[in-house]
Order: sequence, then structure tokens, then C-alpha cells
Amino acid sequence: MLDRTTALQTYQTFIDGRWTDAVSGKTFQTFDPYTGAPWALIPECDKADVDRAVDAAHRAFESGAWPKMTPTARGKIMRRIAELIEQHAEHLGEVEVRDNGKLISEMVAQTKYMPQWFYYYAGLADKIHGSVMSVDRPDHFTYILREPVGVCAFITPWNSPLMLATWKLAPALAAGCTVVIKPSEFTSASLLEFMKLVIAESGLPPGVVNVVTGYGPVVGEPLVTHPKVAKVAFTGGSATGARVNELAAKTFKKVSLELGGKSPNIVFDDCILDDAISGAISGIFAATGQTCIAGSRLLLQETIHDQFVEKLVAMAKAARLGDPALAETQVGPVTTPPQYQKILSYIDIAKQEGAKCVLGGGAAGSDEGGGQYFVKPTIFTGVNNKMRIAQEEVFGPVLSVIKFKDEEEAVAIANDIAYGLGAGVWTQSVRRAHTMASRIKAGTVWVNTYRAVSFLMPFGGYKASGLGRENGAEAIDGYLQSKSVWINNGAGGGNPFIMKTAS
Ligand code: NDP
Repeated sequence: MLDRTTALQTYQTFIDGRWTDAVSGKTFQTFDPYTGAPWALIPECDKADVDRAVDAAHRAFESGAWPKMTPTARGKIMRRIAELIEQHAEHLGEVEVRDNGKLISEMVAQTKYMPQWFYYYAGLADKIHGSVMSVDRPDHFTYILREPVGVCAFITPWNSPLMLATWKLAPALAAGCTVVIKPSEFTSASLLEFMKLVIAESGLPPGVVNVVTGYGPVVGEPLVTHPKVAKVAFTGGSATGARVNELAAKTFKKVSLELGGKSPNIVFDDCILDDAISGAISGIFAATGQTCIAGSRLLLQETIHDQFVEKLVAMAKAARLGDPALAETQVGPVTTPPQYQKILSYIDIAKQEGAKCVLGGGAAGSDEGGGQYFVKPTIFTGVNNKMRIAQEEVFGPVLSVIKFKDEEEAVAIANDIAYGLGAGVWTQSVRRAHTMASRIKAGTVWVNTYRAVSFLMPFGGYKASGLGRENGAEAIDGYLQSKSVWINNGAGGGNPFIMKTAS
């Protein structure tokens, strides 16, 4: 059970295998979104700390034990990381709840699932290999090496802090990279606990994984512009992602971006109604709507629209708001005060745009199970796809319901958006399921399910939802680069003024 009675806890950050304060000595408070009270002090790092963290990661990459370690030995350490997470999953999940206010059942489920990423990529570590090529020069021996890119900078958001760091960390370690992580200023504590209970005990050499805590522009920008950083992996909003991409481009870093979404959850009249209603709820009210894959546009076929909305409203109305640390709670607080204000302002925008509010529509007070940062589960009908409430990411428990006539119109509405992260389809027709899966422009399409993720399945966005993929075997490619090696076993000579093409 989450203990909220402890005194203000003070954390240090973790650089080069050692616990340390920020160079400036400054700290900032982190808040419990349910009580609104500060519960921990976090080092307020700045460029000086970024420099020492990147220097440590660079040293660890270039010399020392890590680059000398065989891939099999790296895999062994990663399996140890997985075992340590298993031991501490409950505690790590509780720290997440304290920091981001999401449901204990969801956060502990995430921390219990995280070891699978380390087991899976540990298994891949010694299966990374190059290849011998047969170029059309018979006296040449040619081969391709697969090498780690170098120091990687990870920037992560507040909604699933450890899970999203894991999606980056596991493939990066398997590839042989070293890492500096900047967590969100709102949720740094769980990563620091993870460093203490897992990384520091795993046998990883010093400097392989480092953390710099602090504010986005102050820590994030020096990190993504640092000349010794080779790759940036970012998860967050699309506007911040664009800024990160622009900054990283100046020094030609490799970049992967997992960004926002406005995912369509499309319900056809041949669906199993109760499953689809539950899928619509899970798409938008789980995690208080604070997920990048929220099914925030519910596309309903006009033939079932009224019946569906009626049942959906009844089910959403019954959702239990309350303390996220209690197992029975279904909707918790919004994680950050700015996010709370943003959600309320989008509710106003939807009303001004003429959408009809059929449920919720504002803050939830303590008489409704809510409190300081609670928003009522909110449903708008009569939304058309041109409205801001249909096009812009709210990142909260606010659903826009849009009517469609047929498959053609559903596809047109689903794809008429800047984003392309996820999509749901509810139908019993096999033909329709496959057709919709192929026609929707999104990185993930779920049919008769929603919000399912696995370490085996690539995750990422089309269009403004991102660049590159996390998870699955292909994620490792983002942390590797190829080197072509040519060995001439024959005679030298030839015309030095022309390129050596086919003999
Ligand atoms: P932000 O983009 O505000 O922040 C993400 C991270 O970037 C934080 O660590 C933040 O630090 C940091 N940051 C902020 N400004 C800068 C900067 N100028 N340079 C470098 N780093 C910076 O997103 P949120 O934390 O608000 O997360 C919500 C967003 O993340 C949503 O849009 C959501 O869709 C997206 N997301 C995407 C996922 C995906 O996999 N596609 C998964 C989860 C979320 P700080 O917090 O200290 O400001």
C-alpha cells in the first residue's frame, strides 16, 4: 500500500556510477497529483551536469569495461536487470503512482511487464551480426560490421516514465550503446529509484547509464545539442519533438521520435456492441486519457450512433473517480497542473465550437470522488472532423464522437488528421478488418481490442506522430550503424584517378 505519510524525501542523481547533487546544488519539488502536496526533492541539473553525464557516457563507450564486454556478457547483465525489476516491481509501480497519479493497477502492471523487454533484448544482444558479401571483385574480401552508434540521449514524458525509458534502454544496451536519460521534471523519482534498485545493482560498468534531472529546455536542449551525443530518442509532444529534431539536426544526430496522437476508434454496426463500448472506454478514460494512443476520436456508424452513445454514457458515468493508489479506482487525477488547465480549456473550445456535451464537461469536485486536479469523464457528440476538438491532442478524458455513413467515409475521416499513431476498428467482418488495417495511416491498428502493446510489436507513428519504431527486433537498428570493410588480397595498382567499380 502506497505510504503517503513519509517526510519529504531527498534524491540525488546518478552520473558515472555515483550518486551526486546538481553542480549548482539546487533542487526542485515533485508533487503528488492526488494530494497536490510536494513529496520529494529532485536535483535541478543544468548544462554543467549534462556535460559531466555525457562525458561519463562517452568515456564508458570509448574505454573501460563496457566496449570490451562480449555481447553474451552484455546479455547476462541485462537478464540481471530484468530479475531486479521483477524483485522491485511493486515498489517501482508505487513510486510511479506517487509522481504521476495514474492507477496503481496500471502502473504495477507496467513495471511487472518491463522485465520482458530486458529478457527479449538480452537474447538479441549476441545475435547482432554483420555479413560477408561477394562483391564483383574476386580478389577482395568484403564484409559489413554492425556497430553501436555511441552515446544516446533519452528524453521521456511523465505519463509512463519507466515503461517508456525501458523501450529505449533495453535495445540500446543490447546494441552496446551508453546512455544519458532526462526524465520529465514531473516524474523523476521513479527513474532515480530504478537506478538505485536496479541499475546500480546489476553489474553495469560506471557511466553506461546516467541520469540528469531538471527542466526541459535547461537540461534537454544541452543534451540534444551536445557534440558527443550520437543519437537522440525522444518521447513527448509533437511541438517539443519538432524542436528536439531541429536542434539535433545541427550536429547530424540520429533521431527517433515517439510523439502525440489523435487516434480514431472506429465502430461499425456489425461489431459486438458491448466489446466496442468497453473498447471506447478503454481508449479514452483509461489513464485519465493521458496516453499518446488515446482513442480520442470515436467514429460511430450512423446506424448505431444513438444506441451506442446512450450505453457509452451510462457506462462512463458509473466510472469511479478517486485515489489512484486504491485498487477500485477507475479514473485518477490529471498528472500536472498545466495539463489540467489545458484539458479544461479544450472542453471550453469544444463547447464554443458547437459540440454537444452529453457527459461531464468540467472539473470533478470531491463530492464526485475527485479533488484538486480531477476532470470528469467528458463526451462530446455532434463533432465534425474539422473542429479543433477533433484535430488537436487534448491528452485527457475528453472524447469526440463523430458520425460516419460507410467504410469509405470512415477511412476518409480517420486519415484526415496530422497524426497517425494508433487506430481501433470494431467489426465482425474479416474482410473489413483487413481492409481497414491496410487503409488506415497509423503505426498500430487494433481490431476488436484497444491499447495492447508488447515488446515484440513495433510501436511508433506515421506522419506527425513520430519517426522510427520502438519495440520488436527492428528497434535495435536504431542503435546500430553499418560499416563496410574492403580487404584487398590481390595486387594494388590500377588507375588511381577513377573510382574502383566493378572489375
Ligand atoms: P513534452 O513534450 O512537454 O515533454 C516531453 C519531454 O521533453 C519531457 O522530459 C520534457 O521535460 C522534455 N522537454 C520539454 N521541453 C524541451 C526542450 N525544449 N528540449 C528538450 N526536451 C524538452 O510532453 P509531455 O511530458 O507533456 O508528455 C505528453 C506528450 O507526450 C503527449 O503529446 C503524448 O502524446 C506524448 N507521448 C507520446 C508517446 C509515444 O510513444 N508516441 C508516449 C507517451 C507520450 P519537462 O517535463 O521537464 O518539461
